[in-house]
Amino acid sequence: MAKPAPKKNVFEFLELPREMPRRIPLALRRDGDWGELYGRFNDEAARHQAGRCLDCGNPYCSWKCPLHNYIPNWLELAREDRVHEAATLCHETNPLPEICGRVCPQDRLCEGSCTLDDGFGAVTIGAVEKYIVDRAVADGWRPDLSRVVATGQRVAVIGAGPAGLSCADRLARAGIEAVVHDRYEQIGGLLQFGIPSFKLDKSVVQTRREILEGMGVRFRLGVEVGRDLSLDALLDEYDAVFLGLGSYRYTDGGLPGQDLAGVLPALPFLVQNGRVVGGVQPQGRPIAGWEDRIELPDLKGRRVVVLGGGDTGMDCVRSAIRLGAAEVTCAYRRDEANMPGSAREVGNAREEGVRFLFNRQPLELVGRDGRVNGVRVVETRMGAPDANGRQRAEPVEGSESTLAADVVIIAFGFRPDAPDWLAAHGIELEDDGRIRTSGERGAHPYQTAHPRVFAGGDAVRGADLVVTAAFEGREAAGGIARLLRNGGGRRLPVPEADIAAA
Ligand SMILES: Cc1cc2nc3c(=O)[nH]c(=O)nc-3n(C[C@H](O)[C@H](O)[C@H](O)COP(=O)(O)OP(=O)(O)OC[C@H]3O[C@@H](n4cnc5c(N)ncnc54)[C@H](O)[C@@H]3O)c2cc1C
Ligand code: SF4
Repeated sequence: MAKPAPKKNVFEFLELPREMPRRIPLALRRDGDWGELYGRFNDEAARHQAGRCLDCGNPYCSWKCPLHNYIPNWLELAREDRVHEAATLCHETNPLPEICGRVCPQDRLCEGSCTLDDGFGAVTIGAVEKYIVDRAVADGWRPDLSRVVATGQRVAVIGAGPAGLSCADRLARAGIEAVVHDRYEQIGGLLQFGIPSFKLDKSVVQTRREILEGMGVRFRLGVEVGRDLSLDALLDEYDAVFLGLGSYRYTDGGLPGQDLAGVLPALPFLVQNGRVVGGVQPQGRPIAGWEDRIELPDLKGRRVVVLGGGDTGMDCVRSAIRLGAAEVTCAYRRDEANMPGSAREVGNAREEGVRFLFNRQPLELVGRDGRVNGVRVVETRMGAPDANGRQRAEPVEGSESTLAADVVIIAFGFRPDAPDWLAAHGIELEDDGRIRTSGERGAHPYQTAHPRVFAGGDAVRGADLVVTAAFEGREAAGGIARLLRNGGGRRLPVPEADIAAA
């Protein structure tokens, strides 16, 4: 039983500054340490940092969190050292709290909206979220499903990324059996094979798998739907299907010279490197038409230029530093204020020695004897906003120059690449290839044009964030549960009274 907490001092934020957990020393990072950059709070630091919350009445942090987490409430439980209750409350809204605590761009979400962010230093919400769940799970805490009544209904989830895992978690809590299929031999999607271990240690994904299996979720891995198993077969076997397929079509920018040796697409570079770092043998098969296994060049002593300023670009530059590159440059066509990557990650990259060249638009990759040796760029100035409200980058005539490079990594992002077999089932796409759904407000959120097929995550919203994929997986599970409750599944519905009891 936790000791009673001392009375809250509402001015704690004045006495105690914002502090993040200790980080791996810079020298080790530059020397190739791939461990998670941020450590974990000890119990006292977590209580103090959680105690800085003002509980300001209108919790802007919760509004800004895509999952609308009960942040002030679990911060208060953490301050009182009631970590198991805090973990239970975290899971009320977030199926993957320890993962979001690590990888969310908090400076753009919850912490960016914290009242204290205005001069006093925002509460370290993400780090406390990670602390709560890591500590509770290490203590043996697990989600309590003892009151859940099995409905006998079954749902096939395709894709073991954050969207699919979140959907499976919520289905299990509704008494619906979830069987998660993935073409890879490990769960996690981009959590496992995209995000580098210095942001998310892969043991965290493994622990989440054990938690989900303990809740009754089953995994069928190394199975690609559309190749090894058809959607028809799944619709026959299961009451409903959730598609959490991700977004994997590589945007290369169509630059002249992009086929030169030494030019790499970002995700295969990160995936392959992640495998090498993690000692994981390639298993499972790449998505059809998308090769994720490349020959990794030795970056030791090389000059590396990364094109693109998003999270993927930041992961590439920081990976290149750990791989011993002599010089790592990030060239981005807009200015720093318009950069999509998290400011915290940009700060970490800068500290690790990455050089940022803002307002540089690549024109061409140049080389000799078939190998890249530079990137020709033109300077830009910021112009009028585009249709999305972001300022356009306008080239400045006569400002062309060439950046020397031995290796160039292209990190322009990804577009959805919905598989052909969806159309055969009447599942409709948006013009840009995203799967069309009813969205979050429909009677059955995230239902596709096929009544028994739901979808969410990057395949629906385009490449985005773990937390938004978790939101859509969670909401889609609610839509599926409602559909099945009302008799929309393959089999006869379970009586309403039984479900209410769950
Ligand atoms: C390099 C990189 C770094 C990132 N860093 C961050 C970050 O720091 N913070 C953050 O919030 N977000 C980050 N993101 C974005 C985040 O990872 C994604 O938004 C999120 O993973 C999307 O989740 P998802 O479940 O929709 O898709 P995914 O994670 O892509 O998972 C989709 C899964 O579906 C499987 N699949 C697809 N088709 C089939 C099929 N036919 N049969 C069987 N299985 C199939 C795939 O194998 C995959 O496992 C990053 C992305 C990248 C690429
Ligand atoms: S899920 Fe992400 S945005 Fe929400 S509270 Fe946690 S770290 Fe913040």
